[in-house]
Amino acid sequence: LRARSDPTFTPRPTLLQKEFDLTGRVAVVSGGNRGLGLEISEALCEAGAIVHCLDLPETPGDTWHATQKYVKRLNLPSARLEYANVDVTNQGLVWDTIEKIAENEGGRLDVCIAAAGIITGSACLDCPAEEFSKVMNVNTNGVFYLAQAAGRQMVKYGRPGSIILIASASGTVANIGEQVVAYNASKSAVLQIARSMACELGQKGIRVNTISPGYIRTDMTSVFLDARAQLQDTWASQNPLGRLGRPDELRGVVTWLASDASTFCTGSEFVAARGDLLGI
Ligand code: NDP
Repeated sequence: LRARSDPTFTPRPTLLQKEFDLTGRVAVVSGGNRGLGLEISEALCEAGAIVHCLDLPETPGDTWHATQKYVKRLNLPSARLEYANVDVTNQGLVWDTIEKIAENEGGRLDVCIAAAGIITGSACLDCPAEEFSKVMNVNTNGVFYLAQAAGRQMVKYGRPGSIILIASASGTVANIGEQVVAYNASKSAVLQIARSMACELGQKGIRVNTISPGYIRTDMTSVFLDARAQLQDTWASQNPLGRLGRPDELRGVVTWLASDASTFCTGSEFVAARGDLLGI
């Protein structure tokens, strides 16, 4: 009532806003140089987090730098975006990097998001061993090494934490016309990694969940969309919302899962609009 009648009144944050607040929380995000990983990093910073992006290039790309400038302009007391050149398939490097990040941040790591991933297309009968191994190595092994490294630091410092693995509906369903056997297999494994880790780590206050996005236009999907003119319409028609997603549409679910607003959620898969799971 006071807010309506008094133009100078500034409301205090509501309980819900406080629960979503990530001020001072330390997060790591793999694949943070571009695509969904970068979008997720920006969202966490906007909620006040200190975000360490892990990715392949020695120096991050222009889009990452633009996001870093944007985060500085947000003028939030603790929000920060850092970058580390880490190949997630190198377990030793992943462990060492995460250990150093937690140590340098005063003994804390609160959030871990594994978004790095690759896709290749080969007919299942022709898929070479190197291609199959490469996809499994990045999408499954790399996701596991990062989740493992983060879990170790959360346990070491005795703090609760949220680990979020970006899986895919392709980990559950396969479609006629798609030749992505390695990708589908790798994402299926991610779903089980999350469930297994959730069971083992729950009593230590560490939550592990997956997000399985429907089709979103990024560099990864553009390769397929640009090659087949009708594909965008096909994907859109398979989606209950009748369209592809935008990278920014994952911001809400990621921030929610990273925050105290979801403290009773673990071992769950959150599917962001993919119709084939609904029989469309
Ligand atoms: P992009 O190809 O746009 O980005 C992938 C990112 O992962 C890049 O930054 C890439 O680095 C990084 N990366 C790849 N390999 C490694 C590695 N070995 N170590 C560290 N980083 C690596 O993909 P998206 O943003 O679209 O996908 C992000 C995640 O979401 C993936 O796991 C993908 O499978 C999943 N997903 C995406 C969907 C979509 O529709 N886009 C749907 C469902 C799931 P670099 O910049 O150096 O290439």
